[in-house]
Amino acid sequence: MSKRPLVGVLALQGDFREHATSLSEAGAEVTEIRHAENLKNIQGLIIPGGESTAIARLLIAYNLTDPIRRHIEQGLPTWGTCAGAILLAKNAPDLDRPTISVMNITVQRNAFGPQINSFEENIYVNGISGLPIKAILIRAPIISDTGPEVSILGKLSDGSIVAVKENNLLATSFHPELTNDSRMHGLFVDMTRQYS
Ligand code: GLN
Repeated sequence: MSKRPLVGVLALQGDFREHATSLSEAGAEVTEIRHAENLKNIQGLIIPGGESTAIARLLIAYNLTDPIRRHIEQGLPTWGTCAGAILLAKNAPDLDRPTISVMNITVQRNAFGPQINSFEENIYVNGISGLPIKAILIRAPIISDTGPEVSILGKLSDGSIVAVKENNLLATSFHPELTNDSRMHGLFVDMTRQYS
């Protein structure tokens, strides 16, 4: 069996513990990221769901915004879920401060309404075979525009784009870490195996 890649989970705010559990199930070693030196030696990084304004503020306070951007520009496989996707987007018009901004997508925060309008839908995701996966959307963003190098991996039945990939970057509006299906984490762990 191939070696377990070391994957970091940004652990400032949000549901980083759930990601750690899913990553372990998908075959990765996990380390929590709170300081720039934690980024050394990781083969992948997850930016979790939570509150993007709070995480953006903490990234600045912990001097992590620029180091994370640099690692991503050097090729570090990185996946943002929900708030994490907002932090990766180059164009997040509703975000109140500058952040990582590396992915050629536009996101609209809270596009499906308030918390009470959270919902689930089973969707097919390119690269995941078998049964559809359960997409849980909690005050989720829509990916409203994508650059030419971005591939669309998944949409809701109404056509809303909720999963995209651009080179070493993956972004989902939904939260696979809140299900016990670790196939989406498996897809990301495969991306990290190509990076060392
Ligand atoms: N609405 C949140 C934000 O804008 C994201 C919600 C989530 O990550 N579940 O940051």
